[in-house]
Amino acid sequence: MTVFLTIDGSQGEGGGQILRSSLALSIITGTPIHIENIRARRRRPGLMRQHLTAVLAAAEVCQGHLEGAAVRSRELWFQPDAVRAGKYCFSVGTAGSTCLVFQTVLPALLMAEQPSRVTFEGGTHNPMSPPYDFLAQCFVPVLTRMGASVTLELERPGFYPAGGGRFTAVIAPWQEKRRIEMIESGAIRKRRARALVAQLDVGIARRELRVVRSELGWKERECSVEVIDNSAGPGNVLFCHIERKQVSEVVTAFGEKGLRAERVGKKAATAVRTYVDADVPVGAHLADQLLLPMALAGGGRYRTLPLSQHAETNRDIIRKFLDLDITVETKKETATVSIAER
Ligand code: ATP
Repeated sequence: MTVFLTIDGSQGEGGGQILRSSLALSIITGTPIHIENIRARRRRPGLMRQHLTAVLAAAEVCQGHLEGAAVRSRELWFQPDAVRAGKYCFSVGTAGSTCLVFQTVLPALLMAEQPSRVTFEGGTHNPMSPPYDFLAQCFVPVLTRMGASVTLELERPGFYPAGGGRFTAVIAPWQEKRRIEMIESGAIRKRRARALVAQLDVGIARRELRVVRSELGWKERECSVEVIDNSAGPGNVLFCHIERKQVSEVVTAFGEKGLRAERVGKKAATAVRTYVDADVPVGAHLADQLLLPMALAGGGRYRTLPLSQHAETNRDIIRKFLDLDITVETKKETATVSIAER
């Protein structure tokens, strides 16, 4: 009889991260899982299209067996088999986040014996998810420092609600796992603000950048407008890049219908200030996304902002599968996360 590890999807912040991390860890450790109360603390609980795509993708890369994999399902049984590298294409079918699907299968494919080439279709620039640019310029470069080889290529962006975005990831076997430490923030080497507009008035992007300049004192030459001409629908996003020796933080603010461009600029500027004033290398989002790769590398340390509930929940899930110490020391509005083998 198969013994399933039961995961309560309502624990902690009770969102989709519990599902994604559990799937990844289930494959890597070969542990069959039963997840109940999936996304119980979300307004629309259960599997949404994007989560279902992640579930099916996880099963495909390891020829796993699934029960309960349907839209709205709140309960899932998953029995993984061996990871199989290869060519895959995972399509969300809506504007749901492809970047979160990427993060679900990435850990498993890093553990494969051959490289994989994976194409993701759907939303690439979604609020409440890592935008493609964050993955490409913040998350993946840190993985590279940890010895992983992942290359990303964006074919076209996909914005909510039209979706239709597409990117490809080439994921090589992670051979030499390096434990890294990111404690000192270090000097800022470069700053860049990029306002992207697709099928919208370019004046929106200019107004957002004007706010970045007035609020943060960034120079005209540090700001650029990027007009996207190949997306399926309209979109607007403002990125602020803060490059340091060890890490490049990417702060994002999304434009939306009814939200003034000045508000978008202000949101980004406030988030940049929070990060820079904290004087930490690792921003709040990278902090929760680094936990799993660092755990797989066997350890690491970083200083960040106080951990979000999202990160705390992710840590609790990792501990269910891996015998690691993950400690968080909070001091003066910053937290130092240490991951080490027992
Ligand atoms: P759901 O249950 O709806 O799927 P969730 O719990 O999976 O929700 P969130 O808690 O909102 O989703 O977080 C999803 C992930 O997206 C987190 O890892 C978070 O760090 C990341 N994320 C959200 N916004 C950004 C951003 N602007 N930049 C980088 N990463 C982001």
